[in-house]
Amino acid sequence: MSAAEILREARSAGIDLRVEGDDLALHAQAPPPADLLQRLVRYKPEIVALLRPGRDGWSAEDWQVYFDERAGIAEFDGGLPRREAEARAFECCLVEWLNRTFERSPPGQCLACGGGDHAHDVLVPHGIEPTGHVWLHSRCWPDWYAGQKADAAEALKDMGIVPPAKFPDDFGKNGSA
Ligand SMILES: [Zn+2]
Repeated sequence: MSAAEILREARSAGIDLRVEGDDLALHAQAPPPADLLQRLVRYKPEIVALLRPGRDGWSAEDWQVYFDERAGIAEFDGGLPRREAEARAFECCLVEWLNRTFERSPPGQCLACGGGDHAHDVLVPHGIEPTGHVWLHSRCWPDWYAGQKADAAEALKDMGIVPPAKFPDDFGKNGSA
């Protein structure tokens, strides 16, 4: 049994769970069944980890919900095979993570190398409204963006979101604004 399953079981039993510090706060109209309570106690660290928001502001559970929703839309509305739908959902998660953790940088300085704006080496804004822009030299952008994507994939992995096997890595070809 996984922490996510216990969480689902608790919710369907009418228990509201919240993370308070390192603790799990339970709110319910009626006392929960003893065996469920036992499981909640045993899996407390895992459940707390699942519910705690990361630096992007979303918890692992939020990411799972977002991933499932995106995959469902691609599969049922878009008519894609499940694996492709999951690849699409993973791509959406990467974009969402990058948007949620996006750093803005002031114009006039390259975020990657720290260099300035020169006639032979012009700074280009990257990113979209409303998240804002970062400014980088065109030659600095590919490496910087690859690093961002790797960070995103790593963070998503910690949240339990992984791409399906043989995920085509074509994300990021359209990064510049
Ligand atoms: Zn640069």
